[in-house]
Amino acid sequence: MKILLCFGTRPEAIKMAPLYHKLKENNFEVIVSVTAQHREMLDQVLDFFDIKPDYDLDLMQPNQTLNNLSALILSKMDKVLLEVNPDLVFVHGDTTTSSMVALAAFHRGIKVAHVEAGLRTYNKHSPFPEEINRQLTGRLADIHFTPTNEATSNLVKEGISQSTIIQTGNTVIDALFWTISKIEKQNYIHPEIEELKNIIPSNKKIILVTGHRRENFGTGMNNLCEALLEVSKREDVVIVYPVHLNPNVKDVVNQLLSDKKNILLINPVSYPAFVWLMQKSFLIVSDSGGIQEEAPSLGKPVLVTRNTSERPEGVMEGFSKLVGTDKEKIINVIQELLENFNGFENKSNPYGNGNASKNIISFLQNLN
Ligand code: UDP
Repeated sequence: MKILLCFGTRPEAIKMAPLYHKLKENNFEVIVSVTAQHREMLDQVLDFFDIKPDYDLDLMQPNQTLNNLSALILSKMDKVLLEVNPDLVFVHGDTTTSSMVALAAFHRGIKVAHVEAGLRTYNKHSPFPEEINRQLTGRLADIHFTPTNEATSNLVKEGISQSTIIQTGNTVIDALFWTISKIEKQNYIHPEIEELKNIIPSNKKIILVTGHRRENFGTGMNNLCEALLEVSKREDVVIVYPVHLNPNVKDVVNQLLSDKKNILLINPVSYPAFVWLMQKSFLIVSDSGGIQEEAPSLGKPVLVTRNTSERPEGVMEGFSKLVGTDKEKIINVIQELLENFNGFENKSNPYGNGNASKNIISFLQNLN
């Protein structure tokens, strides 16, 4: 079976990497096409997971609109689809790359498999544009690999045939475990991790921060920064913030938080360095989806700076808390955790156990 894997952003690459390697191990013919909707952050991941794309559409442009990006993906992917003529196209999650590649494949009558299918907020404006990207991709896909019960039941409620839904867990946990086993090897030295060890004080509680959602651009980002400034007055904490490269994030964060005591602003770090940072952190503040999924495996609480989450399992089981972007709320929840959090009692991660890509392969092998 000839399989075309398509992705474009850092999180998609992290989550497709374990599948790429499992497909290769099991002798599937695998072709990789990246849109490079992110550039530097994508390349960091390709490098670490040793993936060399067969097609690199290199579509990222400064100040690109979503319509322009969508049109480019449709036209460039059409050529790739014609040339490769795959049996199955794999897309992931909820990006413009996922929905537009799925649409291009549909137009060409090529079957689409959707990894991390079934996540929903059912609010088309939040997250924007991801909710519509994932719903569109869900309508276009022929096979749906879901991470959780909740995701499966969303698709069933939408009338998707149960025989096309395969619950596998999330491949991000496969990527996380693989990375931990690599960085914990005795003689493994990663220059970025060594550098972080040098610049982060070892006697303080690390608050790790990330953020990139469009819905938080503007007031939300401002409130978050002001809350962090307040928390940074405590002498027992250091805030470590790898700042997303999107100018809507970078400019505000640099303006409000550079050169402040107990706050360390750094560029986005490679995946192994970020996993190391998560392991060392006391708590995480983030609007990221992947981090909500990874953190439970590491026993780290996450304050989610959003009002809704398409990952309700972590919230229901107490791993994460939805705090929105209200300054006082963020401060209070951080203070409360700093004083009282003693770890989660051996609860298992609702998002997966590290076998998601193996489960996807088993399904494909039965198709043959
Ligand atoms: N991540 C990373 N380097 C960083 C920050 C995050 O490798 O500096 C990883 C993180 O572990 C997670 C993924 O990137 O797997 C999350 O990406 P992002 O927050 O951009 O997207 P989302 O998960 O919200 O789709």
